[in-house]
Amino acid sequence: GIELRDIRKSYAGGPEVLHGVSMRIEPGEFIVIVGPSGCGKSTLLRLIAGLESCREGDILIDGKRANQLAPQDRDIAMIFQNYALYPHMTVRENIAFGLELRGMPKAQRHARADSVAATLQLTPYLGRKPGALSGGQRQRVAMGRAMARNSSTFLMDEPLSNLDNALRVAMRTEIKDLHRQLGATMIYVTHDQTEALSLADRIAVMKDGHLQQFDTPEAIYDRPQNRFVASFLGMPT
Ligand code: ATP
Ligand code: MG
Repeated sequence: GIELRDIRKSYAGGPEVLHGVSMRIEPGEFIVIVGPSGCGKSTLLRLIAGLESCREGDILIDGKRANQLAPQDRDIAMIFQNYALYPHMTVRENIAFGLELRGMPKAQRHARADSVAATLQLTPYLGRKPGALSGGQRQRVAMGRAMARNSSTFLMDEPLSNLDNALRVAMRTEIKDLHRQLGATMIYVTHDQTEALSLADRIAVMKDGHLQQFDTPEAIYDRPQNRFVASFLGMPT
């Protein structure tokens, strides 16, 4: 599991953007984080991935202090809000990239990449570079790179935001299946209420660097902590 204990974060010289966030995520849970733009969702994911460090508080991954684990030792795959693909590599090489770091032989890497690409309907594009893909295709490549690694935890920062509606619905099912198959822990950021309610075991509602409520969709629906939570999830207030 992943545990956050009273996390405080500010970026160099700037104001504090997370003001003491605590949450405990059980192995295999699907957590969805929602909240207005700028409330600290991506910052929280980057801290868990080890791409940022925090001023105060502890992150524990399976009981171990995360600040003693380098990002590549965390068994966490992250899908970024802005995809971060390698422009000089093909789709196949991008998807296979994380496997190279793990020392898997090339033929096996490419076979794994091809099978993930098939799941994501990317087979026709395997030999192309990201510059020659649409936004939605790039987003699926980014997702494929994370999926190829079979990590125990996936962090996804609005992975479906650039897709058209049909593809978004299809990918939502894909992500659910992936979660079921791998038994992996998912921490998923979205602005889409339907997505949050349909994917989450528990939803974390954030506002201005504070966690407002962290509970099952049913519990939040029955007992929203405050008006902000209720209105943010589109409930009557
Ligand atoms: P969005 O929904 O728009 O993606 P978010 O909830 O993911 O928003 P964050 O990206 O975590 O928000 O940003 C939280 C706060 O930290 C914002 O005020 C933002 O301006 C600030 N911030 C984020 N990244 C940096 C950075 N690299 N340097 C300085 N400030 C940053
Ligand atoms: Mg963000």
